Amino acid sequence: MKNREVAAALRELADSMELLGEDRYRVANYRDAATRVEHHHEPIEVMAEEHRVEQLHGIGKSIGAKIVEYLETGTLAAIEERRPRVPQAALRLMQIPGVGPKRAMQFAQELNVQTIADLQAALDSGQIAALPRLGEKIAEALRIELQRLDARSQRLPLAIALPAAEEVMRQLRACAEVQSVAVAGSIRRWRETTGDIDILVASSDPTVVMEAFTRLPVVKQVLGAGDTRASIVTVADVQIDLRVVAPESIGVALQYFTGSKEHNVKLRALAVRRGLKVNEYGVFPADDDSRNLGSRSEEEVYAALGLPWIPPELREGAGEIEMARRGALPVLVSESDLRGDLHTHTRLTDGSSTIAEMVRAGLERGYAYLAITDHSQALGITGGLTDDELRAEHAQIRELQPEYPTMQLLCGVEVDIHIDERLDCSDEFLESCDVVVASIHSALQKPRSVQTSRLISAIRNPHVDVIAHPTGRLLGRRPGYEIDLAAVLDACASHGVAIEVSGQPSRLDLDADGIRAALERGVKLVLNTDSHAADQIGELMRYAVGTARRGGATAESIINTRDFAGLQRWLRREHT
Ligand SMILES: [Zn+2]
Ligand SMILES: [Zn+2]
Repeated sequence: MKNREVAAALRELADSMELLGEDRYRVANYRDAATRVEHHHEPIEVMAEEHRVEQLHGIGKSIGAKIVEYLETGTLAAIEERRPRVPQAALRLMQIPGVGPKRAMQFAQELNVQTIADLQAALDSGQIAALPRLGEKIAEALRIELQRLDARSQRLPLAIALPAAEEVMRQLRACAEVQSVAVAGSIRRWRETTGDIDILVASSDPTVVMEAFTRLPVVKQVLGAGDTRASIVTVADVQIDLRVVAPESIGVALQYFTGSKEHNVKLRALAVRRGLKVNEYGVFPADDDSRNLGSRSEEEVYAALGLPWIPPELREGAGEIEMARRGALPVLVSESDLRGDLHTHTRLTDGSSTIAEMVRAGLERGYAYLAITDHSQALGITGGLTDDELRAEHAQIRELQPEYPTMQLLCGVEVDIHIDERLDCSDEFLESCDVVVASIHSALQKPRSVQTSRLISAIRNPHVDVIAHPTGRLLGRRPGYEIDLAAVLDACASHGVAIEVSGQPSRLDLDADGIRAALERGVKLVLNTDSHAADQIGELMRYAVGTARRGGATAESIINTRDFAGLQRWLRREHT
Protein backbone atom coordinates (compact mmCIF):
# COMPACT_ATOMS: atom_id res chain seq x y z
CA MET A 1 0.00 0.00 0.00
CA LYS A 2 1.59 3.24 -1.17
CA ASN A 3 -0.95 5.70 0.20
CA ARG A 4 1.36 7.21 2.80
CA GLU A 5 4.17 7.58 0.32
CA VAL A 6 1.96 9.27 -2.27
CA ALA A 7 0.50 11.53 0.40
CA ALA A 8 4.02 12.55 1.47
CA ALA A 9 4.88 13.48 -2.13
CA LEU A 10 1.73 15.57 -2.54
CA ARG A 11 2.50 17.29 0.76
CA GLU A 12 6.05 18.01 -0.29
CA LEU A 13 4.74 19.59 -3.46
CA ALA A 14 2.23 21.68 -1.50
CA ASP A 15 4.94 22.83 0.93
CA SER A 16 7.31 23.70 -1.92
CA MET A 17 4.60 25.71 -3.66
CA GLU A 18 3.77 27.52 -0.46
CA LEU A 19 7.41 28.37 0.24
CA LEU A 20 7.61 29.83 -3.25
CA GLY A 21 4.50 31.92 -2.61
CA GLU A 22 2.34 30.17 -5.19
CA ASP A 23 -1.45 30.15 -5.39
CA ARG A 24 -2.86 29.34 -1.93
CA TYR A 25 -5.94 27.69 -3.31
CA ARG A 26 -3.92 25.16 -5.25
CA VAL A 27 -1.67 24.55 -2.26
CA ALA A 28 -4.75 23.78 -0.16
CA ASN A 29 -6.03 21.41 -2.85
CA TYR A 30 -2.82 19.38 -2.80
CA ARG A 31 -2.86 19.17 1.00
CA ASP A 32 -6.46 18.09 1.00
CA ALA A 33 -5.74 15.45 -1.64
CA ALA A 34 -2.79 14.18 0.44
CA THR A 35 -5.04 13.71 3.47
CA ARG A 36 -7.63 11.86 1.44
CA VAL A 37 -5.11 9.54 -0.16
CA GLU A 38 -3.48 8.87 3.20
CA HIS A 39 -6.73 7.93 4.91
CA HIS A 40 -8.28 6.02 2.08
CA HIS A 41 -8.46 2.36 3.01
CA GLU A 42 -7.80 1.01 -0.49
CA PRO A 43 -4.27 0.88 -1.94
CA ILE A 44 -3.88 3.94 -4.18
CA GLU A 45 -1.74 1.93 -6.63
CA VAL A 46 -4.66 -0.44 -7.20
CA MET A 47 -6.99 2.49 -7.84
CA ALA A 48 -4.45 3.98 -10.25
CA GLU A 49 -4.10 0.74 -12.12
CA GLU A 50 -7.84 0.59 -12.56
CA HIS A 51 -8.02 4.28 -13.52
CA ARG A 52 -10.16 5.05 -10.50
CA VAL A 53 -8.04 7.64 -8.69
CA GLU A 54 -10.49 10.40 -9.53
CA GLN A 55 -13.19 8.58 -7.61
CA LEU A 56 -11.58 10.03 -4.51
CA HIS A 57 -13.42 13.17 -3.53
CA GLY A 58 -11.45 16.34 -4.30
CA ILE A 59 -9.10 14.63 -6.75
CA GLY A 60 -9.56 15.92 -10.26
CA LYS A 61 -7.70 15.29 -13.51
CA SER A 62 -4.57 17.24 -12.65
CA ILE A 63 -3.94 15.81 -9.16
CA GLY A 64 -5.00 12.40 -10.43
CA ALA A 65 -2.33 12.59 -13.14
CA LYS A 66 0.29 13.56 -10.53
CA ILE A 67 -0.59 10.53 -8.43
CA VAL A 68 -0.16 8.26 -11.45
CA GLU A 69 3.09 10.02 -12.34
CA TYR A 70 4.44 9.45 -8.85
CA LEU A 71 3.47 5.79 -8.86
CA GLU A 72 5.12 5.27 -12.24
CA THR A 73 8.31 7.29 -11.74
CA GLY A 74 8.78 7.51 -7.97
CA THR A 75 8.88 11.30 -8.09
CA LEU A 76 7.02 14.35 -9.36
CA ALA A 77 8.42 16.63 -12.05
CA ALA A 78 6.62 19.47 -10.27
CA ILE A 79 8.73 18.85 -7.15
CA GLU A 80 11.97 18.37 -9.09
CA GLU A 81 11.59 21.55 -11.11
CA ARG A 82 10.97 23.60 -7.95
CA ARG A 83 13.67 21.94 -5.88
CA PRO A 84 16.57 24.30 -6.80
CA ARG A 85 14.50 27.28 -5.69
CA VAL A 86 13.16 25.76 -2.47
CA PRO A 87 15.26 26.04 0.70
CA GLN A 88 15.37 22.41 1.86
CA ALA A 89 15.82 23.26 5.55
CA ALA A 90 12.62 25.30 5.50
CA LEU A 91 10.85 22.42 3.78
CA ARG A 92 11.86 20.06 6.58
CA LEU A 93 10.75 22.48 9.27
CA MET A 94 7.33 22.84 7.66
CA GLN A 95 6.56 19.26 8.63
CA ILE A 96 6.01 20.60 12.14
CA PRO A 97 2.42 21.70 12.68
CA GLY A 98 2.42 25.40 13.52
CA VAL A 99 5.44 26.15 11.31
CA GLY A 100 4.29 27.84 8.14
CA PRO A 101 6.52 29.01 5.29
CA LYS A 102 7.32 32.41 6.84
CA ARG A 103 8.49 30.97 10.12
CA ALA A 104 10.37 28.15 8.46
CA MET A 105 12.32 30.72 6.40
CA GLN A 106 12.88 32.87 9.47
CA PHE A 107 14.34 29.94 11.45
CA ALA A 108 16.51 28.81 8.55
CA GLN A 109 17.85 32.23 7.63
CA GLU A 110 18.15 34.00 10.98
CA LEU A 111 19.27 31.09 13.19
CA ASN A 112 20.66 28.70 10.58
CA VAL A 113 18.27 26.01 11.82
CA GLN A 114 18.56 23.18 9.27
CA THR A 115 16.91 20.20 10.94
CA ILE A 116 14.26 19.40 13.51
CA ALA A 117 17.04 18.60 16.00
CA ASP A 118 18.49 22.09 15.37
CA LEU A 119 15.08 23.55 16.06
CA GLN A 120 14.85 21.67 19.36
CA ALA A 121 18.28 23.03 20.36
CA ALA A 122 17.30 26.57 19.39
CA LEU A 123 14.13 26.23 21.46
CA ASP A 124 16.09 24.93 24.46
CA SER A 125 18.62 27.77 24.31
CA GLY A 126 15.89 30.41 24.16
CA GLN A 127 16.92 31.65 20.69
CA ILE A 128 13.51 30.98 19.20
CA ALA A 129 11.61 32.83 21.91
CA ALA A 130 13.95 35.81 21.42
CA LEU A 131 13.19 36.19 17.69
CA PRO A 132 11.07 39.16 16.63
CA ARG A 133 7.32 38.40 16.55
CA LEU A 134 7.77 35.10 18.44
CA GLY A 135 8.03 35.07 22.23
CA GLU A 136 7.77 32.37 24.88
CA LYS A 137 4.17 31.45 24.18
CA ILE A 138 4.79 30.42 20.58
CA ALA A 139 8.05 28.74 21.58
CA GLU A 140 6.14 26.63 24.10
CA ALA A 141 3.56 25.66 21.49
CA LEU A 142 6.41 24.57 19.20
CA ARG A 143 7.97 22.49 21.98
CA ILE A 144 4.68 20.66 22.40
CA GLU A 145 4.43 20.04 18.65
CA LEU A 146 7.95 18.60 18.62
CA GLN A 147 7.08 16.23 21.47
CA ARG A 148 4.01 15.16 19.58
CA LEU A 149 6.01 14.59 16.41
CA ASP A 150 8.38 12.43 18.42
CA ALA A 151 5.58 10.41 19.99
CA ARG A 152 4.00 9.95 16.58
CA SER A 153 7.12 8.51 15.05
CA GLN A 154 7.27 5.84 17.73
CA ARG A 155 3.73 4.50 17.82
CA LEU A 156 1.70 3.48 14.79
CA PRO A 157 -2.01 4.17 14.58
CA LEU A 158 -4.15 1.05 14.75
CA ALA A 159 -5.53 1.74 11.27
CA ILE A 160 -2.05 1.27 9.80
CA ALA A 161 -0.80 -1.47 12.13
CA LEU A 162 -3.83 -3.74 11.95
CA PRO A 163 -4.17 -3.99 8.14
CA ALA A 164 -0.39 -4.50 7.88
CA ALA A 165 -0.56 -7.37 10.37
CA GLU A 166 -3.60 -8.85 8.65
CA GLU A 167 -1.88 -8.85 5.27
CA VAL A 168 1.12 -10.70 6.72
CA MET A 169 -1.18 -13.21 8.43
CA ARG A 170 -3.13 -13.74 5.23
CA GLN A 171 0.06 -14.52 3.30
CA LEU A 172 1.42 -16.73 6.10
CA ARG A 173 -1.68 -18.92 6.09
CA ALA A 174 -0.64 -20.14 2.65
CA CYS A 175 2.27 -21.98 4.30
CA ALA A 176 1.21 -25.56 5.05
CA GLU A 177 3.38 -25.75 8.17
CA VAL A 178 1.47 -22.88 9.80
CA GLN A 179 -1.15 -24.46 12.09
CA SER A 180 -2.52 -21.20 13.37
CA VAL A 181 -1.51 -17.57 13.25
CA ALA A 182 -2.58 -14.67 15.44
CA VAL A 183 -1.60 -11.10 16.11
CA ALA A 184 -0.73 -10.41 19.74
CA GLY A 185 0.21 -7.21 21.55
CA SER A 186 -1.75 -4.01 21.75
CA ILE A 187 -3.36 -4.56 18.34
CA ARG A 188 -5.24 -7.54 19.73
CA ARG A 189 -6.38 -5.33 22.61
CA TRP A 190 -7.56 -2.74 20.02
CA ARG A 191 -5.40 -0.02 21.52
CA GLU A 192 -5.51 3.03 19.30
CA THR A 193 -1.75 3.06 18.72
CA THR A 194 0.81 0.32 18.77
CA GLY A 195 4.55 0.05 19.41
CA ASP A 196 5.62 -3.37 18.15
CA ILE A 197 3.58 -5.65 15.95
CA ASP A 198 3.94 -9.23 17.19
CA ILE A 199 2.60 -12.12 15.17
CA LEU A 200 2.57 -15.60 16.64
CA VAL A 201 2.51 -18.80 14.63
CA ALA A 202 1.89 -22.29 15.98
CA SER A 203 3.95 -24.84 14.08
CA SER A 204 6.00 -27.96 14.62
CA ASP A 205 8.42 -26.90 11.91
CA PRO A 206 9.77 -23.42 12.69
CA THR A 207 12.51 -23.63 10.06
CA VAL A 208 10.04 -23.90 7.19
CA VAL A 209 7.88 -21.12 8.66
CA MET A 210 10.89 -18.81 9.03
CA GLU A 211 11.84 -19.48 5.43
CA ALA A 212 8.32 -18.71 4.25
CA PHE A 213 7.95 -15.61 6.43
CA THR A 214 11.12 -13.90 5.26
CA ARG A 215 10.12 -14.51 1.63
CA LEU A 216 6.50 -13.31 1.76
CA PRO A 217 5.56 -10.97 -1.10
CA VAL A 218 4.78 -8.27 1.48
CA VAL A 219 8.38 -8.25 2.80
CA LYS A 220 10.53 -5.29 1.75
CA GLN A 221 13.45 -5.93 4.08
CA VAL A 222 14.50 -8.64 6.55
CA LEU A 223 15.92 -7.01 9.68
CA GLY A 224 16.91 -10.27 11.32
CA ALA A 225 15.99 -13.94 11.37
CA GLY A 226 16.81 -16.63 13.93
CA ASP A 227 15.47 -20.14 14.59
CA THR A 228 12.09 -19.12 15.91
CA ARG A 229 12.05 -15.34 15.62
CA ALA A 230 12.36 -12.87 12.78
CA SER A 231 11.74 -9.20 12.06
CA ILE A 232 10.81 -7.75 8.73
CA VAL A 233 9.75 -4.43 7.27
CA THR A 234 6.75 -4.60 4.95
CA VAL A 235 6.32 -2.74 1.69
CA ALA A 236 4.10 -0.33 3.68
CA ASP A 237 7.16 0.46 5.86
CA VAL A 238 5.78 -1.26 8.92
CA GLN A 239 8.02 -3.43 11.10
CA ILE A 240 6.60 -6.82 12.03
CA ASP A 241 8.06 -9.39 14.41
CA LEU A 242 7.24 -13.06 14.12
CA ARG A 243 7.60 -15.80 16.72
CA VAL A 244 7.02 -19.47 16.06
CA VAL A 245 5.97 -21.58 19.03
CA ALA A 246 5.09 -25.24 19.43
CA PRO A 247 1.36 -25.94 18.99
CA GLU A 248 1.12 -27.19 22.58
CA SER A 249 2.35 -23.79 23.89
CA ILE A 250 0.47 -21.38 21.61
CA GLY A 251 -2.17 -20.52 24.23
CA VAL A 252 0.28 -19.47 26.90
CA ALA A 253 2.42 -17.61 24.34
CA LEU A 254 -0.58 -15.73 22.96
CA GLN A 255 -1.65 -14.82 26.49
CA TYR A 256 1.83 -13.58 27.34
CA PHE A 257 2.43 -11.56 24.16
CA THR A 258 -1.03 -10.02 24.15
CA GLY A 259 -0.30 -8.22 27.43
CA SER A 260 -0.81 -5.72 28.75
CA LYS A 261 2.20 -5.71 31.00
CA GLU A 262 0.00 -4.54 33.88
CA HIS A 263 -2.48 -7.36 33.29
CA ASN A 264 0.27 -9.99 33.16
CA VAL A 265 1.97 -8.72 36.32
CA LYS A 266 -1.32 -9.03 38.20
CA LEU A 267 -2.03 -12.42 36.69
CA ARG A 268 1.34 -13.74 37.78
CA ALA A 269 0.84 -12.38 41.29
CA LEU A 270 -2.47 -14.25 41.43
CA ALA A 271 -0.70 -17.43 40.27
CA VAL A 272 1.87 -17.10 43.05
CA ARG A 273 -0.88 -16.66 45.65
CA ARG A 274 -2.41 -19.87 44.40
CA GLY A 275 0.84 -21.82 44.61
CA LEU A 276 1.27 -21.80 40.81
CA LYS A 277 3.77 -20.44 38.34
CA VAL A 278 3.37 -19.34 34.74
CA ASN A 279 6.20 -19.62 32.21
CA GLU A 280 6.45 -19.81 28.44
CA TYR A 281 5.50 -23.50 28.46
CA GLY A 282 2.37 -23.30 30.58
CA VAL A 283 0.93 -23.06 34.07
CA PHE A 284 2.55 -25.38 36.64
CA PRO A 285 2.31 -26.10 40.37
CA ALA A 286 5.15 -24.05 41.96
CA ASP A 287 7.02 -27.20 42.99
CA ASP A 288 6.22 -29.52 40.09
CA ASP A 289 7.51 -28.73 36.58
CA SER A 290 6.21 -31.99 35.19
CA ARG A 291 2.49 -31.22 35.60
CA ASN A 292 1.37 -28.72 32.94
CA LEU A 293 -2.06 -27.38 33.94
CA GLY A 294 -2.72 -25.36 30.81
CA SER A 295 -0.90 -24.11 27.70
CA ARG A 296 -2.68 -25.07 24.46
CA SER A 297 -5.28 -22.35 24.48
CA GLU A 298 -5.80 -19.12 26.38
CA GLU A 299 -8.97 -20.58 27.87
CA GLU A 300 -6.86 -23.39 29.39
CA VAL A 301 -4.36 -20.93 30.79
CA TYR A 302 -6.99 -18.76 32.48
CA ALA A 303 -8.86 -21.84 33.71
CA ALA A 304 -5.68 -23.19 35.30
CA LEU A 305 -5.55 -19.92 37.26
CA GLY A 306 -9.18 -20.32 38.31
CA LEU A 307 -10.47 -17.64 35.94
CA PRO A 308 -12.83 -17.46 32.98
CA TRP A 309 -11.18 -16.30 29.73
CA ILE A 310 -10.80 -12.52 29.76
CA PRO A 311 -11.34 -10.71 26.43
CA PRO A 312 -8.09 -9.05 25.25
CA GLU A 313 -9.77 -5.63 25.08
CA LEU A 314 -10.18 -5.66 28.86
CA ARG A 315 -6.63 -6.75 29.69
CA GLU A 316 -5.31 -3.45 30.98
CA GLY A 317 -4.85 -4.35 34.64
CA ALA A 318 -7.70 -2.00 35.52
CA GLY A 319 -9.83 -4.31 37.65
CA GLU A 320 -10.68 -6.96 35.03
CA ILE A 321 -9.01 -9.80 36.95
CA GLU A 322 -11.06 -8.99 40.06
CA MET A 323 -14.21 -8.84 37.92
CA ALA A 324 -13.33 -12.21 36.38
CA ARG A 325 -12.86 -13.71 39.85
CA ARG A 326 -16.28 -12.45 40.90
CA GLY A 327 -17.80 -13.79 37.68
CA ALA A 328 -18.75 -10.21 36.81
CA LEU A 329 -17.09 -9.74 33.40
CA PRO A 330 -19.44 -7.95 31.00
CA VAL A 331 -20.58 -9.78 27.87
CA LEU A 332 -18.97 -7.38 25.41
CA VAL A 333 -20.71 -6.24 22.26
CA SER A 334 -19.57 -8.03 19.10
CA GLU A 335 -19.68 -6.90 15.51
CA SER A 336 -22.57 -9.19 14.67
CA ASP A 337 -24.75 -7.42 17.27
CA LEU A 338 -24.89 -4.25 15.15
CA ARG A 339 -28.10 -3.81 13.16
CA GLY A 340 -27.35 -0.55 11.43
CA ASP A 341 -25.26 2.57 11.09
CA LEU A 342 -26.57 6.01 12.02
CA HIS A 343 -23.85 8.28 10.59
CA THR A 344 -22.85 8.21 6.92
CA HIS A 345 -22.13 10.71 4.14
CA THR A 346 -22.66 10.70 0.39
CA ARG A 347 -21.10 12.63 -2.44
CA LEU A 348 -23.77 15.29 -2.04
CA THR A 349 -21.37 16.55 0.66
CA ASP A 350 -17.86 15.24 1.27
CA GLY A 351 -18.43 11.54 0.67
CA SER A 352 -17.39 9.77 -2.50
CA SER A 353 -20.35 7.42 -3.06
CA THR A 354 -23.94 7.96 -4.15
CA ILE A 355 -26.91 7.40 -1.87
CA ALA A 356 -27.70 4.16 -3.72
CA GLU A 357 -24.11 2.89 -3.33
CA MET A 358 -24.18 3.59 0.39
CA VAL A 359 -27.53 1.86 0.76
CA ARG A 360 -26.34 -1.21 -1.15
CA ALA A 361 -23.27 -1.43 1.12
CA GLY A 362 -25.55 -1.41 4.17
CA LEU A 363 -27.68 -4.10 2.61
CA GLU A 364 -24.65 -6.25 1.83
CA ARG A 365 -23.68 -6.05 5.46
CA GLY A 366 -27.11 -7.33 6.38
CA TYR A 367 -28.21 -4.21 8.21
CA ALA A 368 -31.81 -3.65 9.24
CA TYR A 369 -31.43 0.10 8.85
CA LEU A 370 -29.05 2.74 7.59
CA ALA A 371 -29.11 6.49 8.12
CA ILE A 372 -27.73 8.97 5.62
CA THR A 373 -26.56 12.03 7.55
CA ASP A 374 -24.91 14.52 5.22
CA HIS A 375 -23.40 17.76 6.51
CA SER A 376 -25.33 20.95 7.13
CA GLN A 377 -24.45 24.15 5.29
CA ALA A 378 -21.96 25.77 7.70
CA LEU A 379 -19.30 23.27 6.73
CA GLY A 380 -18.18 24.96 3.54
CA ILE A 381 -15.21 22.68 2.90
CA THR A 382 -17.44 19.62 2.95
CA GLY A 383 -20.00 21.10 0.58
CA GLY A 384 -22.56 21.21 3.40
CA LEU A 385 -26.22 21.47 2.38
CA THR A 386 -28.95 23.98 3.21
CA ASP A 387 -32.20 22.80 4.80
CA ASP A 388 -33.86 22.80 1.38
CA GLU A 389 -31.06 20.83 -0.23
CA LEU A 390 -31.20 18.32 2.63
CA ARG A 391 -34.98 18.07 2.13
CA ALA A 392 -34.36 17.28 -1.54
CA GLU A 393 -31.84 14.61 -0.52
CA HIS A 394 -34.38 13.11 1.87
CA ALA A 395 -36.93 12.96 -0.93
CA GLN A 396 -34.41 10.97 -3.01
CA ILE A 397 -33.79 8.60 -0.11
CA ARG A 398 -37.51 8.02 0.39
CA GLU A 399 -37.86 7.32 -3.32
CA LEU A 400 -35.27 4.55 -3.02
CA GLN A 401 -36.95 2.90 -0.04
CA PRO A 402 -39.34 0.62 -1.98
CA GLU A 403 -36.34 -1.07 -3.64
CA TYR A 404 -35.06 -2.16 -0.21
CA PRO A 405 -37.88 -3.93 1.60
CA THR A 406 -35.54 -5.54 4.15
CA MET A 407 -33.70 -2.41 5.16
CA GLN A 408 -35.13 0.83 6.53
CA LEU A 409 -33.54 3.97 5.15
CA LEU A 410 -33.39 6.81 7.64
CA CYS A 411 -33.25 10.44 6.53
CA GLY A 412 -30.83 12.29 8.73
CA VAL A 413 -28.35 15.12 9.02
CA GLU A 414 -25.05 15.78 10.74
CA VAL A 415 -25.92 19.22 11.98
CA ASP A 416 -23.10 21.57 12.89
CA ILE A 417 -23.14 23.27 16.28
CA HIS A 418 -22.19 26.92 15.83
CA ILE A 419 -19.88 28.75 18.18
CA ASP A 420 -22.87 30.76 19.43
CA GLU A 421 -24.59 27.46 20.31
CA ARG A 422 -27.16 27.70 17.49
CA LEU A 423 -27.69 24.60 15.41
CA ASP A 424 -27.01 24.98 11.69
CA CYS A 425 -30.52 23.80 10.66
CA SER A 426 -33.96 25.09 11.56
CA ASP A 427 -35.92 23.27 14.28
CA GLU A 428 -38.63 22.73 11.73
CA PHE A 429 -36.25 20.87 9.43
CA LEU A 430 -34.69 18.87 12.27
CA GLU A 431 -38.14 17.75 13.33
CA SER A 432 -38.69 16.31 9.84
CA CYS A 433 -35.55 14.13 10.12
CA ASP A 434 -35.63 10.50 11.23
CA VAL A 435 -32.33 10.92 13.00
CA VAL A 436 -30.24 13.95 13.93
CA VAL A 437 -26.54 13.69 14.65
CA ALA A 438 -25.00 16.89 16.05
CA SER A 439 -21.32 17.75 16.18
CA ILE A 440 -18.65 20.42 16.41
CA HIS A 441 -16.28 21.05 13.48
CA SER A 442 -15.21 24.66 13.94
CA ALA A 443 -13.63 27.04 16.47
CA LEU A 444 -11.83 24.12 18.10
CA GLN A 445 -9.51 26.39 20.10
CA LYS A 446 -12.21 27.98 22.27
CA PRO A 447 -12.00 27.40 26.01
CA ARG A 448 -13.44 24.37 27.75
CA SER A 449 -16.42 26.22 29.23
CA VAL A 450 -17.46 27.45 25.76
CA GLN A 451 -17.17 24.00 24.12
CA THR A 452 -18.99 22.34 26.99
CA SER A 453 -21.97 24.65 26.87
CA ARG A 454 -21.95 24.42 23.07
CA LEU A 455 -22.45 20.66 23.29
CA ILE A 456 -24.94 20.88 26.15
CA SER A 457 -27.10 23.35 24.26
CA ALA A 458 -27.25 20.89 21.35
CA ILE A 459 -28.09 18.07 23.74
CA ARG A 460 -30.99 20.15 25.06
CA ASN A 461 -32.47 20.56 21.59
CA PRO A 462 -35.39 18.12 21.54
CA HIS A 463 -34.58 16.96 17.99
CA VAL A 464 -30.97 15.94 18.58
CA ASP A 465 -30.50 12.18 18.97
CA VAL A 466 -26.75 11.61 18.94
CA ILE A 467 -23.62 13.67 19.65
CA ALA A 468 -21.05 12.60 17.06
CA HIS A 469 -17.27 12.35 17.65
CA PRO A 470 -17.80 14.10 20.99
CA THR A 471 -14.22 15.23 21.72
CA GLY A 472 -13.14 16.04 18.15
CA ARG A 473 -9.72 14.45 18.55
CA LEU A 474 -7.76 13.32 15.49
CA LEU A 475 -5.27 10.66 16.50
CA GLY A 476 -1.66 11.68 16.02
CA ARG A 477 -2.72 15.06 14.64
CA ARG A 478 -4.61 16.97 17.28
CA PRO A 479 -6.03 16.37 20.73
CA GLY A 480 -9.75 17.06 21.00
CA TYR A 481 -11.22 20.44 21.77
CA GLU A 482 -11.46 20.75 25.51
CA ILE A 483 -14.71 19.74 27.15
CA ASP A 484 -16.00 18.86 30.58
CA LEU A 485 -16.94 15.36 29.53
CA ALA A 486 -18.67 14.56 32.81
CA ALA A 487 -21.00 17.56 32.38
CA VAL A 488 -21.70 16.63 28.74
CA LEU A 489 -22.49 13.03 29.70
CA ASP A 490 -24.72 14.17 32.57
CA ALA A 491 -26.66 16.29 30.08
CA CYS A 492 -26.92 13.30 27.69
CA ALA A 493 -28.27 11.21 30.57
CA SER A 494 -30.94 13.70 31.54
CA HIS A 495 -32.03 14.48 27.97
CA GLY A 496 -31.89 10.93 26.63
CA VAL A 497 -29.28 11.76 23.97
CA ALA A 498 -26.83 9.06 22.91
CA ILE A 499 -23.11 9.52 22.47
CA GLU A 500 -21.20 8.24 19.46
CA VAL A 501 -18.27 5.87 19.32
CA SER A 502 -16.79 6.66 15.92
CA GLY A 503 -15.23 3.86 13.89
CA GLN A 504 -13.24 6.36 11.82
CA PRO A 505 -9.72 5.09 12.55
CA SER A 506 -8.41 8.64 13.00
CA ARG A 507 -11.10 9.40 15.57
CA LEU A 508 -12.11 6.40 17.73
CA ASP A 509 -14.04 9.00 19.66
CA LEU A 510 -15.32 8.51 22.42
CA ASP A 511 -12.38 6.51 23.66
CA ALA A 512 -12.45 3.67 26.19
CA ASP A 513 -12.24 5.91 29.27
CA GLY A 514 -15.00 8.14 27.96
CA ILE A 515 -17.14 5.11 27.19
CA ARG A 516 -16.77 3.85 30.75
CA ALA A 517 -17.80 7.26 32.06
CA ALA A 518 -20.86 7.21 29.77
CA LEU A 519 -21.87 3.70 30.84
CA GLU A 520 -21.56 4.61 34.53
CA ARG A 521 -24.15 7.32 33.96
CA GLY A 522 -26.47 5.11 31.97
CA VAL A 523 -25.83 7.11 28.78
CA LYS A 524 -26.54 5.06 25.67
CA LEU A 525 -23.90 4.64 22.99
CA VAL A 526 -24.27 4.58 19.22
CA LEU A 527 -21.52 2.84 17.21
CA ASN A 528 -21.11 4.58 13.85
CA THR A 529 -18.65 4.49 10.99
CA ASP A 530 -19.11 8.09 9.79
CA SER A 531 -18.51 6.47 6.40
CA HIS A 532 -17.50 8.76 3.55
CA ALA A 533 -17.42 5.92 0.99
CA ALA A 534 -19.54 2.83 0.50
CA ASP A 535 -16.88 0.29 1.40
CA GLN A 536 -16.20 2.00 4.73
CA ILE A 537 -19.63 0.87 5.88
CA GLY A 538 -18.41 -2.71 5.92
CA GLU A 539 -14.86 -2.03 7.01
CA LEU A 540 -14.90 0.55 9.75
CA MET A 541 -17.54 -0.76 12.14
CA ARG A 542 -15.03 -3.13 13.69
CA TYR A 543 -12.96 -0.17 14.90
CA ALA A 544 -15.99 1.22 16.70
CA VAL A 545 -16.74 -2.21 18.14
CA GLY A 546 -13.13 -2.74 19.32
CA THR A 547 -13.15 0.66 21.01
CA ALA A 548 -16.53 0.02 22.63
CA ARG A 549 -15.28 -3.34 23.90
CA ARG A 550 -12.25 -1.64 25.45
CA GLY A 551 -14.71 0.56 27.28
CA GLY A 552 -16.62 -2.50 28.53
CA ALA A 553 -19.76 -1.89 26.42
CA THR A 554 -22.42 -4.58 26.14
CA ALA A 555 -24.95 -4.86 23.30
CA GLU A 556 -27.67 -3.56 25.66
CA SER A 557 -25.79 -0.29 26.18
CA ILE A 558 -25.80 0.42 22.43
CA ILE A 559 -28.79 1.83 20.58
CA ASN A 560 -27.97 0.46 17.13
CA THR A 561 -27.93 -3.15 18.29
CA ARG A 562 -31.73 -2.88 18.56
CA ASP A 563 -34.00 -4.06 15.81
CA PHE A 564 -35.77 -1.38 13.77
CA ALA A 565 -38.84 -1.31 15.99
CA GLY A 566 -36.62 -0.93 19.04
CA LEU A 567 -34.62 1.82 17.38
CA GLN A 568 -37.80 3.65 16.42
CA ARG A 569 -39.11 3.49 19.96
CA TRP A 570 -35.89 5.06 21.14
CA LEU A 571 -35.84 7.74 18.41
CA ARG A 572 -39.43 8.72 19.16
CA ARG A 573 -38.84 9.03 22.88
CA GLU A 574 -39.66 12.18 24.74
CA HIS A 575 -36.33 13.94 24.86
CA THR A 576 -37.19 16.39 27.59
ZN1 LIG B 1 -18.35 15.13 11.72
ZN1 LIG C 1 -19.74 12.83 9.70
